[in-house]
Amino acid sequence: MSDIIHLLPDSVANQIAAGEVVQRPASIVKEMVENSIDAGADDIEVRAIDGGKNCVQVIDNGCGMSETDARMAFERHATSKIKDAKDIYQLTTMGFRGEALASIAAVAQVELTTRRPDDEIGTFIQIEGAKVTDQKPVACPVGTNFSVRNLFYNIPVRRKFLKKTQTELNNIIQDFERIALVYPDVKMRLFHNDVPVFTLDRTNLKTRILEVCGKKMENALLPVEAETSIVNVSGFVGKPEHAKKKGARQFFFVNGRFMKHPYFHSAVERAFDDIVQGGEHVDYFIYLDIDPQNLDVNVHPTKTEIKFENEQIIWQIINACVREAIGKFNAVPSIDFNRSSDDIYIPVMNPSKEVKMTRTPSSFNPFDKTHTEKPSTYNWESLYPDSQQDDGGEPKEVVVRGALSNQVPEQTSLWNDGEGMHDVDVNLESDENRKYINVNERYIVTTLKSGLGIVDQHRAHVKILFHEYMERMRTGQTMSQGMLFPEIIHLSTSEEQTFLQIEADIKALGFELTPLGNGAFSMNGIPSGMEGRDYDKLLHSLLWVAEENKNSMMQDVKENMALAMAQHSAVGYGQKLSDDEMKHIIKRLMTMTNPFRTPDGKVIVHILEQNDFDKLFK
Ligand code: ADP
Ligand code: MG
Repeated sequence: MSDIIHLLPDSVANQIAAGEVVQRPASIVKEMVENSIDAGADDIEVRAIDGGKNCVQVIDNGCGMSETDARMAFERHATSKIKDAKDIYQLTTMGFRGEALASIAAVAQVELTTRRPDDEIGTFIQIEGAKVTDQKPVACPVGTNFSVRNLFYNIPVRRKFLKKTQTELNNIIQDFERIALVYPDVKMRLFHNDVPVFTLDRTNLKTRILEVCGKKMENALLPVEAETSIVNVSGFVGKPEHAKKKGARQFFFVNGRFMKHPYFHSAVERAFDDIVQGGEHVDYFIYLDIDPQNLDVNVHPTKTEIKFENEQIIWQIINACVREAIGKFNAVPSIDFNRSSDDIYIPVMNPSKEVKMTRTPSSFNPFDKTHTEKPSTYNWESLYPDSQQDDGGEPKEVVVRGALSNQVPEQTSLWNDGEGMHDVDVNLESDENRKYINVNERYIVTTLKSGLGIVDQHRAHVKILFHEYMERMRTGQTMSQGMLFPEIIHLSTSEEQTFLQIEADIKALGFELTPLGNGAFSMNGIPSGMEGRDYDKLLHSLLWVAEENKNSMMQDVKENMALAMAQHSAVGYGQKLSDDEMKHIIKRLMTMTNPFRTPDGKVIVHILEQNDFDKLFK
């Protein structure tokens, strides 16, 4: 068998968008696993030590390399995948630049063992900082085994900037997932410090998604399918009632490549516009198959944005087939399938098999029932362990000077107004007769000494709870409510990793979780006051917030978690408050240093003073 790797001529190499390929250990995993896929492997094992900073090893059962190719593979612009620039627009492989191995070998210590099926003996090569330090024949299994040690060992500044082990591991998991979600027919395993993180057998797409993203999605996905002359769309979208504020798993792939595409993202979100509540998002796993000629993958090697021809039409197709998936799922007679003006006809691959996409009328909301339902009775008192003590005292009132500025105050920390509660200019007023009116189940209007206070009920409660939760995390004083029947919940692998990092805070917030293995946990306790609420969803949101802020200071992580939890648990709009509840909110709010803004800077209170009234009547 002949050698297959060749050097790209400069004229071709120069047309390939270049850039730093190796940024972190996850880059090595991505490049190596993509190479294994391109080599036709159906069994790939990744082993990372210390977040990959110490070692990343990728073992596959692919086509292997000849002795000459094994050596050649480390040259810049050496590839077996394209010959000239126009091949970039006919790609059937993940790689094409011929740069990854050269880049990796320049900044790490690499060992390669490889054998082709027809060769009796394999090849071993050792390279350090781009120099071959050893090469010899070896007996080895068919396939390729790369180990990459001590990334950036020869560039101390860059090595210093590698993140914590857990962060680097999370990045590896993210890149591994993006490939695993495309190749369900490839057995894939990831080990970290010899502990299995993923063990994915060959299976179908749906099972692979569940294994990667968590079994809780089992009954939460709707199939999406369309074959058109421009693009084939397949995959799954989450059912609307599983939409969440944070942490939705959203993936687009085109021709087997993960991509970010904000415009197409809006096509999916738009399909759910009238169905899910504002600010909530659904999970989706959407796979586009398209003629590579209509695609430009030749962008910066580490970027995940891809340019398309016909973006608007593809937007429409995605939007239509997601709507169709939702419509089918509901099969509600009130969808008027005959309204021709709502139909979208899409040119199809096979003219004998015409696909007609029906657009659900935008006013139709099949989930009206669930979404207009008010939350169950709110367990108010239990949120305030110290409310008894407060009951005797009178509300303190803050004297407001001048109009409230609409500008969001500059805050270096969300948590900068919790402690010094008594430094404020407060007026204690004995006012048993203070009146509270709940306007539109949204605002609390009350008389304050300085005027008429209009308080946003949700924001006020967010503020109060935020401080409550920060305090719980600071003191470690858990307010947990034991569950009569512990519930089993499932965390995806990345969620589980995040959980391990912030376990103490999650516990302080009131969650009691016992690991059962394989991503399953028994939920034995939940934050008090959360009874009857969707605490499962809340937990996932908290993990998502922590993951999103993984590169920030711990204090920021805590603040963002406290805020997420407060936003989730606070009274909503449309929830009628009793006099006692309103009194309670106002009283608590007015003891705070800055009762006017939520931790994320939104206005909570407006005060209309005598002057303001006078102006109205001029
Ligand atoms: P590219 O993937 O863009 O071609 P790389 O630097 O990643 O560039 O790899 C260079 C070449 O090495 C590939 O074109 C391929 O021929 C060979 N190669 C890399 N990894 C493997 C592997 N796991 N199995 C077989 N061949 C491989
Ligand atoms: Mg490659």
